Amino acid sequence: MFNALVLRQEQDKTLAKVEQIAETELPDGEVLVQVEYSTLNYKDGLAITGKGKIVRNFPMVPGIDFTGKVISSNDLRYQEGQQVVLTGWGVGENHWGGLAEKAQVKADWLVPLNEDLTPEQSMQIGTAGLTASLCVQALQQAGITPEQGEILVTGASGGVGSVAVKLLSTLGYQVVAVTGRAENTQWLTELGATRVISREEMLTPNRPLDKQLWAGAIDTVGSHVLAKVLSQVNYNGAVAACGLAGGFDLPTTVMPFILRGVKLLGVDSVSCPFEQRQQAWHLLATTLPKSYFSAACNTISLAQVPEYADKLIAGQITGRLLVDLQ
Ligand code: NDP
Repeated sequence: MFNALVLRQEQDKTLAKVEQIAETELPDGEVLVQVEYSTLNYKDGLAITGKGKIVRNFPMVPGIDFTGKVISSNDLRYQEGQQVVLTGWGVGENHWGGLAEKAQVKADWLVPLNEDLTPEQSMQIGTAGLTASLCVQALQQAGITPEQGEILVTGASGGVGSVAVKLLSTLGYQVVAVTGRAENTQWLTELGATRVISREEMLTPNRPLDKQLWAGAIDTVGSHVLAKVLSQVNYNGAVAACGLAGGFDLPTTVMPFILRGVKLLGVDSVSCPFEQRQQAWHLLATTLPKSYFSAACNTISLAQVPEYADKLIAGQITGRLLVDLQ
């Protein structure tokens, strides 16, 4: 038996409680993992509070990412005792996830833990860090270099945005952070932003083509903010888009694409291929200063998860939340 956070649906309400589960109840999968750390992401918050339609089949163990040690494996790629990481693939949404002491998953969903990261560090940045790294790689592959000018990061106080600011600045890019929270200006500057601009500035009426300001951008917000970003990107610049914190629409025109050669690069971390994941983890492991990881997050226990899920959805959390399952 082991402890797991279990979501149950009663009279249209989602109830979250730590329960004792038998190993035999775990869903099918080739690899059984002793989970050491998980995290609390926005998507987990929506699932646990029931505020978003993330989970459709109950009971469900939430947790979209985790790291841990292989207990047993029916797949030759993974051996007992090996440290592994899982992010995405619908785990914690439609397959029991990482907010439990044990998880059983498909071998295809795992990556070996990068040798330059501890298990704790991998989840201190978690899915948000992986996504930020995929965005940075997309810009690099589009030929965007530090000499070309400033890179804009929207939703900069968020999980993805804040790791993107740190990663880009450590790689020598000049980063301009967009935030709706003026009180985070100093924190964003300490992270590595050379300038911070307000979200309002990005929400002023949009022209098809605005003054060229940015060599590239990482957008976690979507909607009007992304449309504004596209109208301000330099000739042949690129924008990596991964989020919809401001909405899933995109009220833009083809002008930035056909008159300035601007590239809009879609980024997905949930189903992205194994090699790409490994490269993204490598970039994080070899670039981020070791002092950054623990400073980026607070640690909570499994029992505290429901309380913190409420706070997360209420916008009362700054930084990331690491869940210690050891
Ligand atoms: P967070 O909630 O941590 O951060 C989002 C940030 O966006 C907030 O901190 C805030 O930053 C800003 N923001 C919030 N609401 C609005 C709004 N209405 N208009 C404009 N800005 C807003 O989320 P994550 O960083 O974890 O994720 C960011 C986005 O990326 C989400 O939409 C998430 O679903 C998506 N995502 C996508 C992935 C993928 O694979 N494509 C993987 C992971 C996340 P500030 O206060 O600084 O303005």
